[in-house]
Amino acid sequence: MKIHEYQAKEILRSFGVAVPNGRVAATPEEAGAIAQELGGRAVVKAQVHAGGRGKAGGVRVVSGPDEAAEFARGLLGGNLVTAQTGPQGVPVNTVLVEEPVDIAQELYLSVTVDGAAKAPVIIASAAGGMEIEEIAEHSPEKITQVHIDPLIGYQPFIGRRVAAALGLDAAQGRAFGALLGGLIRAFSEKDLSMIEINPLVVTGEGALLAADGKINTDENAHFRHRDLLDLRDAEQEDPLERVANERGVQYVKLDGDVGCMVNGAGLAMATMDVISQVGHAPANFLDVGGGGSEEQVAEAFKIIVSDPDVKKVLINVFGGILRCDVVANGIVSAYREVDVKAPIIVRMTGTNADEGAEILNSSGILVAVAADLNDAAAKVAEIG
Ligand code: GDP
Ligand code: MN
Repeated sequence: MKIHEYQAKEILRSFGVAVPNGRVAATPEEAGAIAQELGGRAVVKAQVHAGGRGKAGGVRVVSGPDEAAEFARGLLGGNLVTAQTGPQGVPVNTVLVEEPVDIAQELYLSVTVDGAAKAPVIIASAAGGMEIEEIAEHSPEKITQVHIDPLIGYQPFIGRRVAAALGLDAAQGRAFGALLGGLIRAFSEKDLSMIEINPLVVTGEGALLAADGKINTDENAHFRHRDLLDLRDAEQEDPLERVANERGVQYVKLDGDVGCMVNGAGLAMATMDVISQVGHAPANFLDVGGGGSEEQVAEAFKIIVSDPDVKKVLINVFGGILRCDVVANGIVSAYREVDVKAPIIVRMTGTNADEGAEILNSSGILVAVAADLNDAAAKVAEIG
């Protein structure tokens, strides 16, 4: 789950990471008042679950309370479109107003999990700031990665190694080691999946300050971090993903036009490959799970067909604990409840596949039952 910058900074501060003074505001007047408290000059930053705000006009250094209020008025209540959002952007309901930072250098620092290495990894670069994606693509040698052995944990030598790669002097290196230690403690104690500080600022006086902060939490660990649950801002999330989440369906919206419903993540990946092989692109990843119910299948079906980008639907089910007749009944009942315009292609195999096909064929709803996965792929290419 993503959280806002101001929430991330509160977590970072509680682990001893230095962040600029400031507060969040929901109205232009509040933004002006906070700027006043901070001494006039301030940085006003749109709070959205997306990066790329700087380039999209979502961050401004203002000279006084009036300009802070005016800039906040322009942002609040609107949508911010950045390189990391869709074309509609995401709503701006709050802005963070902070003391301006005197920037001598912008560093990049993040911690995430490297699945292939089965270990947390620290990623750092002296070339921080807004162009980090380009650096990663064109000058990967400017980026340092150091893994943390999960059995041994963070050790001071790791901090010294990263500090050396960043070209910090001895005094800064010590401060950096302490900051990185705090970051890794936050990462592991809060079960986070990512912390990214870009930029980590070296100030004119040589101090280190986290001028930005992005945190992703691990939803599978929320049961032991109830405090993190309170940080959810559902308005920032894709509306269909939100509904799916509430109904216990694994759903991720994608760019293509073929909606798909599958049981099991591996089969979902294979189905998306098959769709790509016939020249189409999946509109979503959707896994009803190995033990789904008729109701869950029906809910999943409704979520798929309510997406205006979906022009065809491919349902690919391997009946096991979730039987094919249960899936078929779920499809039929959902189909009758909602207005379905997209052609539906179903491939079923495994437990009660014949019963499932019989239910679909005798239901009177418009579905094409495919003989196998190749036939399903051919039908995706032909129909519609
Ligand atoms: P992002 O673009 O969404 O990652 O937002 P950031 O918080 O990283 O802000 C974008 C850029 O704004 C940073 O790279 C800085 O160059 C600039 N910026 C952010 N905070 C300050 C500040 O306090 N003072 C100054 N001068 N620039 C800032
Ligand atoms: Mn940033």
